Amino acid sequence: MSQPGRIDSFQFSRSGSGLTGRLGAEQLSRLADQQVTLNELSFELRGGTNRSGKLCLHLAVKGSLTLVCQRCMGPLDFPLNFDAELEIAASKEEIELADDEVDRVIGSSELSVPDLVEDEVMLELPMVPRHENCGASNEAGKSGRASPFEALARLKIGSGR
Ligand SMILES: [Zn+2]
Repeated sequence: MSQPGRIDSFQFSRSGSGLTGRLGAEQLSRLADQQVTLNELSFELRGGTNRSGKLCLHLAVKGSLTLVCQRCMGPLDFPLNFDAELEIAASKEEIELADDEVDRVIGSSELSVPDLVEDEVMLELPMVPRHENCGASNEAGKSGRASPFEALARLKIGSGR
């Protein structure tokens, strides 16, 4: 598969074209700016029409990211697996005026596929990434009393028994 670049979104949808590919960190620089490490990302883009008969793009993304937990600042694995259906809008105004729940993208004769994928991935990210069961305890944040070394010592005593 060649490097995914730009597509004519109107033509792509009208003809029902398909495109699959992989993206690397170097193509998704905005994610890197957000402390997101890209481990793997593959996508499938298909053109077609949606229920209202409008041209649209179906995007399916699978991959794995590593985020930074905002509580313990440790790495947080974040699997990606989502589908999006984006109606192709003629202009920004059309998107702003639309009064429904339909996701839209501005159509372009040279739509950047990596940018499109990155936009959708960023929508999937949590506002504040956190481990579900974070190792950082509440008391560590409350006062300066519990040092990491004390916590470690307690752990050792506990496991010795
Ligand atoms: Zn954490």
